[in-house]
Amino acid sequence: MKLKSIREVKHLTGKKVLLRVAYDVPLEEKGKSWIVVDDRRIAETLPTIKYLLKKRCRIVIVSWLGRPGGKVIEKYRLDPVAKKLSELLKKPVKKLNDCIGPKIFAEIQALKPGEIIMLENVRFYSAEEENSKMFAGLLAYGFDLIVFDAFAQAHRVHASTTGITKFLPTYAGFLVEKEINSLNQIIKKPKRPLVAIIGGAKISDKVAVLEELVKMADKILIGGGVANIFLKAIGVSVGHSYLQDNFIDQAKRKKVNFVKLARKIYQRHKNKIVLPTDFISANKMDQGALVEMVDAKQNQKINPRFMFLDIGPGTIARYLTEIKKAKTIFWNGPMGVFEINKFAFGTKKIAEAVARSQSVSVLGGGDTESVVKKYNLEGKFSYVSTGGGASLEFLAGRELPALKNIQKAR
Ligand code: AMP
Repeated sequence: MKLKSIREVKHLTGKKVLLRVAYDVPLEEKGKSWIVVDDRRIAETLPTIKYLLKKRCRIVIVSWLGRPGGKVIEKYRLDPVAKKLSELLKKPVKKLNDCIGPKIFAEIQALKPGEIIMLENVRFYSAEEENSKMFAGLLAYGFDLIVFDAFAQAHRVHASTTGITKFLPTYAGFLVEKEINSLNQIIKKPKRPLVAIIGGAKISDKVAVLEELVKMADKILIGGGVANIFLKAIGVSVGHSYLQDNFIDQAKRKKVNFVKLARKIYQRHKNKIVLPTDFISANKMDQGALVEMVDAKQNQKINPRFMFLDIGPGTIARYLTEIKKAKTIFWNGPMGVFEINKFAFGTKKIAEAVARSQSVSVLGGGDTESVVKKYNLEGKFSYVSTGGGASLEFLAGRELPALKNIQKAR
């Protein structure tokens, strides 16, 4: 895939640029305000911003943060993000309290060369996730071009990802280029065995990608919430475990039954998909929870009021054997609720094993990155993508919808 790059824009100097980034960063409450606890997704876009500044562009930044669900939620405002960007750039970044409308338009019109504005979280409007054409048109109104550097959000079909690219010439920023080039190199001729480790809670996204990933992987080790759907699909009772069995695909506007899909994938690829066989279950997601081990191989069943919150020791041992044999590893998503120490052991053991392994290891996803930080394993992996879902879809061979209009004609 060859993308149109900002390097190729003729007469960029002084242009009004809508810069789409993925500043979906973790925040922490401090006193009455929120602060950015991990600025990697912001720092990774600095080469693009500095390039645009050198060209004296007028830069307007747009992103979403969290899942406010189409309404204004104070904790998802982008003010702390603008503050962090301003610190990193050592330059003022004016944050506006909306992303469309006459007041915003007037501010954008008044921008001088080399100045930066950050718009408010686009997910404060439900039109964003509905991929409204009108909303996309309003966002893109008045600009000369779009620079797309939001790799981590490129797999979503939303107004500010795919929608805006239909209105204006769009070019890839340096982060998008870096991600695509690095991931491309890894998947071109992966060393085998290729082992994918898939966990976490975005069950619907991950099960949908598994259908394709399973074709290229030699083994897929499943944990976290994703395991629950497969267990349910093969008839193992999961009690009160977290599940997303029915999901509305916003872009395609259709209902998908993920239990059925998981069953279909498992039945076709039993030899590749490895499911946990023992678990740590608990009555609540809390360090003080009552905990019970469940070993499905011994025909033990979960207490119907309990949830599976981590993989058990037998599963860990099995997964470590596969990781030891692997020559390429894709890891996306924790094996359990690692934020709570009681349920973090499986994730810690898997993280340490991947870090120790001599394989080419590719990690993606905000939470997978948090795991790496939590266990001081930074620098021990071949490549850490800024995008979880996006890197997984790309590795599985899917086209990232937001990049479609940035591709060069062949
Ligand atoms: P994701 O963004 O899909 O990688 O999901 C990460 C989240 O998955 C983390 O916040 C974990 O706490 C959560 N998670 C992992 N395992 C489970 C589980 N068994 N039940 C509920 N949540 C889980």
